This record gives sequence, structure tokens and C-alpha cells, in this order.
Amino acid sequence: MSPEKAPRAPRTRARIVRWAVLASVLAAITVIGYLHQTAGTGRPAGVDALCPFGGLETAYALVTSGFLLKRVAISGVILLVAALAVAVVFRRSFCGQICPLGFLQEMFGGLGRRVFKKRPVMPTWLDRPARYLKYVVLVVFIGLAWTTADLAIRPYDPWVAYMHLTSAEVFAEFSIGFAVLVAAVVGSFVYDRFFCKYLCPMGATLGLISKFSIFKVRRTTTTCIDCKACDIACPVNINVSEAETVNSPECINCNECVTACPVKDTLAMSTSGGKRLSALGTTVAVVAVFAIIVGGATVAGSFEWRTPSLAQEAGAGRGNGAGSEGADGDTALIGDFDVSLIKGRTTLTEVSEVTGIPASMFQRVLGVPESEQGLPLKDTKGTYGFSPEDVRTMVELYRVDPAAAEAYIPLGSSEE
Ligand code: SF4
Ligand code: SF4
Repeated sequence: MSPEKAPRAPRTRARIVRWAVLASVLAAITVIGYLHQTAGTGRPAGVDALCPFGGLETAYALVTSGFLLKRVAISGVILLVAALAVAVVFRRSFCGQICPLGFLQEMFGGLGRRVFKKRPVMPTWLDRPARYLKYVVLVVFIGLAWTTADLAIRPYDPWVAYMHLTSAEVFAEFSIGFAVLVAAVVGSFVYDRFFCKYLCPMGATLGLISKFSIFKVRRTTTTCIDCKACDIACPVNINVSEAETVNSPECINCNECVTACPVKDTLAMSTSGGKRLSALGTTVAVVAVFAIIVGGATVAGSFEWRTPSLAQEAGAGRGNGAGSEGADGDTALIGDFDVSLIKGRTTLTEVSEVTGIPASMFQRVLGVPESEQGLPLKDTKGTYGFSPEDVRTMVELYRVDPAAAEAYIPLGSSEE
């Protein structure tokens, strides 16, 4: 008796929905990254606040001292919790169903397949040891983050570089991360999911958990016709046709093998007890878990979608009685204000709000018109020849004697 064919429509639908989810996340994160770089006060949070690996880097500091590492927001921890929760049930679904960097690689992998007419495979002698590299990356950078309380991976992180593509910082600060990003997409053109396979520390973390996940890809050997369609479809080159249960920590739970299998009920995402979930059902369940956790945190006010303003960072808002009366009549906090909080991403509008230095003084001393004072300092300093350090000095002088601040001559520097 010939095996019953698996209907094509549900398989195609499942693939389209997965790609639509991945494409939406990539588009949303790209817009957030662009706005973070270009918008002024109240702009969206940056990449460090929206990365589950940032959550892992800050975990030790959070548990031992109750503080988050600099640049990391609680949102990163919430995303980490969501990725881990999903991994317990659905393996590395974060990689296969949500991760924007994963999708970027998959797009280039698809392009490469069209060019090469097949999925090239890295020689085994090189592929096997290279897959352990991501665990080394994980141990080194988590070790550094936990011992130095710093985001050690930041300069080398391709996703940080991607989120700074519209900023001059991408070459000034993240040139290595940019090179890794190029390697990830060019590498994926030849070997799909190149970064996921060999370098991603987040994938390594989830891969370790996925060994114990509830749902795994399982093959019914009695109906399998050994056509190898599953092997060809797998972006991480797992030989699905040789396994009864895919236990490999490399599996990103993309379900490409399941949707490629031409025989009904032969390959499925299932529990060891035989409970099955369709490819579409898996995507819906993974998205639902993320939506519930991130949506719930947003409603509860815990998820930081926006970069905190300078006043929030200074630990106080305007008009709380802690400040002095600024020259423009606003209540300011210049007495307590820590000038080191003024960074390249700070705007003069924020400095003016917090310190009471009038916008007109910034225009006279730094030459920045009031209409451009809502832009981050890093975007105006080049045009007007000053540096964030000049702004800090102005605040220090203004604190003592506003006339000295008015007479200040900016030095400018290559800083930030
Ligand atoms: S085994 Fe299947 S689900 Fe796992 S990565 Fe390969 S194609 Fe995706
Ligand atoms: S796709 Fe894989 S599991 Fe399905 S019949 Fe072919 S070899 Fe067997």
C-alpha cells in the first residue's frame, strides 16, 4: 500500500505564517533601531534594552545586588524569561520563530539556495568542532559580563551593529560587530544560519535547555519513505531522516522538515507520549507565549519600550522640590545633577530641562539652534564642533556661576 500523501495547503500555510512572524519582528526591530538612533527625547529603547542575551548578561548582577548592568533594561530580562519559557516546551523556537537576526540569515540562506540550486554543507571535519564555538562564546562573554559587570560582548555583537547601521557609531564603536554581521549574512548565503550554528551565545543557551524540552520533532519509521526531503529542508543540516527523535541542540524548531515531509503523519512536533502539535500550531503557541509575557509586562508598566529621559536617569523628575529655579523659570535639579549622565544620546533639551540652563544659552555658546536641540548630542556635535564633555563643563560652570557658562568656549573632541 502506497503511503498517504500529506496535504500541501496546511504545510504551505504554516511556512508562510512563520515567515510572516519573523519578517514582522525584523521589520519592527529595524524601525525601533532607526528611531532610537534618529529621534530625540522619548525615543524607543535601544538594542541593549531589547535583547534577551542582555537579560542573561545582567542576571548575575540582578540576583546578587538587585541592579541591572548599565544600558540593560528590565525588558531584556523579560525577553529572556519568555525565550527560556518557550525553550522548556518548544526547544530553540526563539531562534526559529522569533529571532530577527535568525531571519536575516534565513533570507540570505534562501537566496544562496536559489543561486547554488542546493544547500551546501560544511565539511564534517570543520563543521563538528566549529559548532562548539558558540558555547565558548557563551562561556567567555557571560563570564566577562558576570565578573566585570559590563556588557563585554557589545563591541562584537552583530545585532548591536545592525541596530546602529544608521549611526556613525557603527564604524567608530562597532566595527568588529559590523564585520561579524557581514560574516553572518555572507556566511548564511553559503551555509544557512551561519551565525546560529557557529557563534550565537543565545542559541547555545537555548540549545542546552532544549535537550530537555517537552516537544521535539519525531519521525514515524514505519511510514517514512526515506525520501530525505526533511534533511534537505533543514537549515542547520540535521539528518532528520536518520533519527526517530531529533534530540540535537542544533534544532531551532523551525518545522521546515515537518512541512517538507510528503507523507501524512510521518514527521511531527510531538511529546514523548505521542501528543502532536502542527507546525502552524507551534508557531501560534510560541507567539502566544511571547505576546502574553511581553504584553503582560507592558500592561503592568514593567517593559521599557522607551529610553528613559535624562530626568528619569537622574532619579528625579522636574518639580519635586529638590532643585533650584532655572533661568528660564523651570524647576531644575542642577544642584544634585550628576554630569556623567550626559552622553552622546542625550539631547540639549533634556539637559536644559534637568539643569535649568536656558536653550538660548546653548544656542549662543554651542551654536545649536533651538530647533535642533531635541536631537541627540552625537548627531549635532559634528556640525557645531562641540562634544558632550563641553556640555558637562557648561553644566558644572552654570552650577557655580551662570556668567562663566555663558562665556565658555567649546573645546570639541572626538569623544562619543
Ligand atoms: S530538525 Fe526540523 S525543526 Fe529542527 S532545525 Fe531542522 S528543519 Fe528545523
Ligand atoms: S521527509 Fe523525512 S521523515 Fe518524511 S518521508 Fe521523507 S525521509 Fe521520511
